[in-house]
Amino acid sequence: MDTLSNFIANQDAPAIGGGRLEVFEPATGAAYATIPDSDERDVARAVEAAKAAFPGWSQTPAADRARVLNAIADLIEQRVEAFAEAESRDQGKPVSLARSLEIPRAAANLRFFAGAILHERGEFYRSDDRALNYVLRQPRGVAGCISPWNLPLYLFTWKIAPALATGNTVVAKPSEVTPFTAWMFGQLCREAKLPMGVLNIVHGTGPKVGAAIVAHPDVPAISFTGGTATGAAIAAVAAPMFKKLSLELGGKNATIVCEDADLEKAIPMIVRSAFQNQGEICLCGSRIVVHRALLKEFTERFVNEARSLKTGDPTATDTDVGAIVSRQHLEKIQSYVALAKIEGGKVVCGGGAPHLIAQRCRGGWFHEPTVIVGLSPTCRTATEEIFGPVVTIHGVDDHGEAIQIANCTKYGLACSIWGRDIERMHRMAAKIDAGVIWLNTWMMRDLRTPFGGMKQSGVGREGGDEALRFFTEAKNVCVGW
Ligand code: NDP
Repeated sequence: MDTLSNFIANQDAPAIGGGRLEVFEPATGAAYATIPDSDERDVARAVEAAKAAFPGWSQTPAADRARVLNAIADLIEQRVEAFAEAESRDQGKPVSLARSLEIPRAAANLRFFAGAILHERGEFYRSDDRALNYVLRQPRGVAGCISPWNLPLYLFTWKIAPALATGNTVVAKPSEVTPFTAWMFGQLCREAKLPMGVLNIVHGTGPKVGAAIVAHPDVPAISFTGGTATGAAIAAVAAPMFKKLSLELGGKNATIVCEDADLEKAIPMIVRSAFQNQGEICLCGSRIVVHRALLKEFTERFVNEARSLKTGDPTATDTDVGAIVSRQHLEKIQSYVALAKIEGGKVVCGGGAPHLIAQRCRGGWFHEPTVIVGLSPTCRTATEEIFGPVVTIHGVDDHGEAIQIANCTKYGLACSIWGRDIERMHRMAAKIDAGVIWLNTWMMRDLRTPFGGMKQSGVGREGGDEALRFFTEAKNVCVGW
């Protein structure tokens, strides 16, 4: 059983209170590691370390900060296999997905922001012949970074990289459900000679560690990714303290299939958008809205493709859908399938646990890709975030109705539209309330673009300049002449 530690001032530290929490492997249901059950005392210690490191790190030349971030990225790339195996064991995702996409993306996050600070441009404004204004962007101090369990290292580094690159120091908390690669990351930071206290990682539960970071008076900026209810709880504490807040929250994203969609090309991508990472990606398309001209053909082909996905041992190379992250989350998914039936839905694919499962995975948490038809687009199953391998399909008569359905949830994170009339698709994109809209693609991310949600999917944007701005304070200096 691995015994993980907090990473504070480059030292491995147990929780001051001495408690430990078990970490489970979703594919087997067995505990395989423990983490410190930290509390506000551990957070206070981490904040002290981060505060002490701030003057030095914030004054470190950008080229030197970039060099350290690139050195950490080098180490991740040298150990992709070890990180991918750890991520898969910890989260339940197919190891192939972690190896090909998520771990490389974690390294890319570090490289992207290491590069960005070397290409910074200033802002100047001449006030006729009276004055010259320039904008100073300075790091905020200690940033609190709180990340979820679905894409553990990918989202952990997506926050930490811009915070560190811009000269802040960080107190970070990974999800207690998936702490392993964050712990490995701390070890690499020491090896890459990140100065002491610049990054501090405190393990434990959200209500104890996460809440203590949010409430700490010396943490002026909070970058959080997670559920909408948690985001609201964080905002309630942080807003009266006038903290800078970035909230990336839940989603219930529509996939719109127009009558002229090229199904041959679209269906494999739409299946991926529905079930990748067991549907545990905030950007997954879980409500598929199809023009009635194509509804019958689309549903048949989509269901056939969903049935052909292999659900099982995440370590097997041919596994498409791995294990669900926790027993509690599996039960939530099951409860929505039961609700769908009460709401009048018909399960046309999946609906429960897979029949054939490797011997070692008999105690694990699995759910087949599940497709439900016959539901009203406004019912709970079709509008609440399930965050699992469950999608609903809805027929529409025209594009106006498709837009209306896409917009009829409290969320506004992402949407994908599939068709050939690109002019009409641009018009539809402009009318959809979502922060990310893909036309004939899905999950295509350019790290320079703004990323985030409308409505209850979030506050603020990450990515590119948005992240650099979030982690810096802008000052206008006006020089009269
Ligand atoms: P949670 O909101 O439960 O948790 C997210 C993080 O916040 C975890 O580290 C958690 O700790 C911590 N946390 C929990 N309670 C508190 C609190 N009171 N104060 C501070 N921190 C707290 O989300 P999940 O981990 O369940 O992640 C799934 C959610 O994340 C989904 O809703 C999904 O849509 C969303 N998400 C959004 C993305 C986006 O970019 N918009 C991207 C990915 C996911 P612990 O787990 O240890 O309890």
